[in-house]
Amino acid sequence: MIVEMRPSATKEEIEDVVRKATSLGFSSHLNMGSNKVVIAILGEITEQVPEESFTHLPGVITVAQICTPYKLSSREFKSEDSLVSVDGIEIGGKRVVVMAGPCAVENEEQIMAAAKAVKQAGACILRGGAFKTRTSPFSFSGLGEAGLRLLAEARERFGIPVITEVTDPRDVDLVLRYADILQVGARNMQNFALLTEIGRSKHPVLLKRNFASTVTEWLLAADYLMKGGNNRVILCERGVRNFEDHSRFSLDICSIPVIKRFSHLPIIVDPSHAAGHYLLVPAVAKAAVAAGADGLLIEVHPNPCKALVDGPQSLTPSMLTLLMEDLKSVAEAVGRYI
Ligand code: PEP
Ligand code: MN
Repeated sequence: MIVEMRPSATKEEIEDVVRKATSLGFSSHLNMGSNKVVIAILGEITEQVPEESFTHLPGVITVAQICTPYKLSSREFKSEDSLVSVDGIEIGGKRVVVMAGPCAVENEEQIMAAAKAVKQAGACILRGGAFKTRTSPFSFSGLGEAGLRLLAEARERFGIPVITEVTDPRDVDLVLRYADILQVGARNMQNFALLTEIGRSKHPVLLKRNFASTVTEWLLAADYLMKGGNNRVILCERGVRNFEDHSRFSLDICSIPVIKRFSHLPIIVDPSHAAGHYLLVPAVAKAAVAAGADGLLIEVHPNPCKALVDGPQSLTPSMLTLLMEDLKSVAEAVGRYI
């Protein structure tokens, strides 16, 4: 349920509503928008929050149910777009934010070459996995903390923030020490213990869509993060699974305008895992920006033929440079910039 307060509601009036919610056994989440103040009052799905307990409290304008199953990530709770700021880079505003780098951090030479290339091409965030969720238990699964240290070194050397995946709730504190953005991979979208742990931090988090999940399930996963008080959530569409086998996954391009309509959270697109082949990546990346994505997550490797993970879908540094030029025109055509 949401309680909308008068824009001029006093701190005491807001606190009264929160206190009332607490006394009835519900949690409350405050959104101080620029022109309205909204409090979401949430309980278990079986418990209906009694509207009449709030309608007559001072400062309250309206009390209404949130119609969608997801609550905190919904536009009904927050009508304005959310901006997630990472080291001064705003995700969700006019700028299309390009994050790029190798699938996995492999060694110092590789990640430094990748960081240099990413920076030179004009991308502004470096990606690289230190903990990899691999389908086969026999595949390279990342360097762990040594990989995180290399990423942090690359950040210092090239002045570029880093995004890296965390796969286990027990590693959240460790990854937090090194990463500017925590990535939750597609396979962990519904790892609720992991989401709850990350929700406790106030760190920016990129939540990838699982390839077999609906938008509703994806936004409910975002609610897990937000319920703990972490509002710095960025969504990432990376393709879903269907009958098609000419690309690795099928990018759900509709999810971009769908998210924009039903959620206030920024959404970026990973064209690399959707396409699965480097030749397809530029077209998919441009389509995503044209459709309104707030950014891209692109795999780039200094030598894709030697990559330990996802070489076939990785761009070379020169391909990234060319793509960035094209992306600038697409972004401009839809009123954005890179
Ligand atoms: C990745 O970004 O490296 C990755 C493993 O992607 P996904 O979780 O989307 O499969
Ligand atoms: Mn990958």
